Amino acid sequence: MKTSAKAMGLGCCPCCHKVVKMQAETQQCPRCHRSFSVRKINSLSHTFAWTIAALVMLVPANLYPMMIYYTLGQPEASTILEGIATFIQFGMYPVAIVIFIASFVVPLAKIIGLFILMYHAKRASKLTVKQQGQLYHIVEFLGPWSMLDVFVVAIMAAVVNLGFLSSIEAAKGITYFGLMVVFTMLAAESFDARLLWDAQDQKPQTDDSQSQLNQAGSR
Ligand SMILES: [Zn+2]
Repeated sequence: MKTSAKAMGLGCCPCCHKVVKMQAETQQCPRCHRSFSVRKINSLSHTFAWTIAALVMLVPANLYPMMIYYTLGQPEASTILEGIATFIQFGMYPVAIVIFIASFVVPLAKIIGLFILMYHAKRASKLTVKQQGQLYHIVEFLGPWSMLDVFVVAIMAAVVNLGFLSSIEAAKGITYFGLMVVFTMLAAESFDARLLWDAQDQKPQTDDSQSQLNQAGSR
């Protein structure tokens, strides 16, 4: 049974959310005049390209120094990992933990999550509608946490101002790290979550998944 608006020939304007009867693949919204398609065009290829680009950026972001700091007048360059080690050395454990989460846990979880979502959008997955929804919400939940990096910069500035380190300069690595953050954001933005439900619709129906679809549809 087809349950999606797409299957019924309907589309939703991404700008004003008006539901429109689709006459062509791409058409103009009668209310706000924005052109849109039923699904984001080439969503999966764009998401894949941005995710790979983010993954590639993760390598130089970790290999090149992130910051140069001066202790007793001596400049020292440090990568993200060395930076975390330095903060631990200074006894600033909360700062070290925040940087570790912002620099490793969140970006990696987002990249892995995007790959899993793309895999499930591409094929009729064995996951139930409910499990797929949970998976999508996890990745969606990680989205705003990219902003954690902004807090890291703020924390760094505060640490410098408090005089724990005499001065900090940003180094090459931070450019790659910034690019990686931007690329994961673009990847998440390119992904059309509705492809997950399209893949479910194409799946041969079992009694179990059929009843779940009916339940989801009646909500
Ligand atoms: Zn509109």
